[in-house]
Amino acid sequence: MSAGSGEELFPRHSPLDGSALAEVEATPPERVPELVAKAREVQRTWMATSVRERSELLASVKKRLLERAEEIASLLRLECGKPVEEAVLAEVLPNADLVDYWVSSAEEFLEDTPVELDPLSYPGKAGSVRREPRGVIGLITPWNYPVAIPLRTLIPALLSGNAVIFKPSEITPRAGALVASLFDGLLPAGLLQLAQGGSDVGTAIIDAGVDLVVFTGSVATGRKVAVSCAERFIPVSLELGGKDAAIVLSDCNLERAARGIVWGAFTNAGQNCASIERVYVERPVAERFIDRVSALTRELKPGVDTAVLTTARQCAIVRKHLAEAEAGGAEVLVGGAPEEGSLEFPPTVVRVTHEDITLLQEETFGPILPIIVVESADEAIERTNGTRFGLTTSIWTRRYEVAQALARRLRSGVVTINNHGFTAAVPGAPWTGVGDSGHGVTNGPHALSDLTRPRFILEDRSGARSELWWYPYTPSLRRVAFSLAKVRGGAGFFGRIAAAVALIIALPKRLFGG
Ligand code: NAD
Repeated sequence: MSAGSGEELFPRHSPLDGSALAEVEATPPERVPELVAKAREVQRTWMATSVRERSELLASVKKRLLERAEEIASLLRLECGKPVEEAVLAEVLPNADLVDYWVSSAEEFLEDTPVELDPLSYPGKAGSVRREPRGVIGLITPWNYPVAIPLRTLIPALLSGNAVIFKPSEITPRAGALVASLFDGLLPAGLLQLAQGGSDVGTAIIDAGVDLVVFTGSVATGRKVAVSCAERFIPVSLELGGKDAAIVLSDCNLERAARGIVWGAFTNAGQNCASIERVYVERPVAERFIDRVSALTRELKPGVDTAVLTTARQCAIVRKHLAEAEAGGAEVLVGGAPEEGSLEFPPTVVRVTHEDITLLQEETFGPILPIIVVESADEAIERTNGTRFGLTTSIWTRRYEVAQALARRLRSGVVTINNHGFTAAVPGAPWTGVGDSGHGVTNGPHALSDLTRPRFILEDRSGARSELWWYPYTPSLRRVAFSLAKVRGGAGFFGRIAAAVALIIALPKRLFGG
């Protein structure tokens, strides 16, 4: 599918109730270079505006988001199958805070920073680092949080002076269009452009030679995107999948741990990069913990607390992981696969005794919570670090010092103690991973290292005729160079004194002549 109505590409019916969804126009991939060229032209003017002006323009996105909260929640319910509460709590409210955070701090974050230059080695010189926009950013996003994820990049990217070509997932193009509409009339025409489509449009964005790709999605696609970008020397930020673990220690507040873990595993039907997909619980509390998690899971009301999986493809993956685990001896304690054809996958709790199964190795991205009993915190850490992923991990304990020490041993971008996953919604907290979870950073000033590049500017006001290291290379320069080495520690006390005297005589001659 390359152009036209997008009938074959975009889902036409809601995963929730099969109702018809609005038609979506696909962007022909061959139009993408034109979009990028236009964005590049407008970006030159945009980067010349002050950060304060940009902040004033973008501040109203917050009000627009909040005013359209019900519309956004209804669309997300229909297009993704999310409970309304999750849509508002995870995709509307935190993004209103996000807009506030960036518009109130961007000026400070983007300020020039001085670089100290030693006045003896570099007399008369001053340097500073300016954060320059990358230029045109290709923003390629997934379907699981189709409002929150793009906004987390769009706001800081635009504030720091970039243009953006935004490609939402082909599974949630209507949510993508809604996100773009939040900026209607605020920005110069062409600065933010929506490109609707699938992999062909994503590929076209990279081929068009954007200046940075910000990609959130699966490991498999992330790898392809990284290779394409590498061939063109385009920097790329990758936020990929996860296999998050929760580590439950025997001294934890068990009720809180059970409640937090049930939410962390089943929110958004487990279609969350930071979904809890493994629990390692210490043996002394294991049975009580498993009983409580099972009871809380049974209490979840289908259609109210939990909704449907967004795609049949995802449902098939979740079904396969569960079936393989059951065949390998995993015991289903609550839930289980739904009848063929249904997207209503119930929250499922599984007791697992060995980890050599896909359910414990690959991202499931569905509502399955495998629990494994361990003998110690050390064993839990070793097992947690045993996959290729490293997005977030939670540790549940009352001993904060122990938890802090364990956190340092985790191969994980984010660690939460007595909570899980929610910090993606905290605009000042960097969200990042290691290994197959990708190296991109979203949120907080660290995200600006992706969205901008440092430009060093040096001013030389010394007025000297020459520099030490300029031509001509003479025997006297050689003496100066070796004297410098001695003065800086290459000789004993008397040697250093002698070298200093030699320098006092030779240096002014060298720099100012005469
Ligand atoms: P996906 O990889 O299938 O698609 C992501 C995006 O890439 C879509 O817009 C898609 O059209 C586009 N795309 C596909 N092929 C492409 C290509 N060859 N070149 C350029 N673009 C291409 O992922 P998905 O199924 O939409 O999302 C689910 C995945 O996203 C899960 O693995 C989840 O863990 C991950 N995710 C990660 C984070 C995070 O912050 N780390 C957040 C949300 C989701």
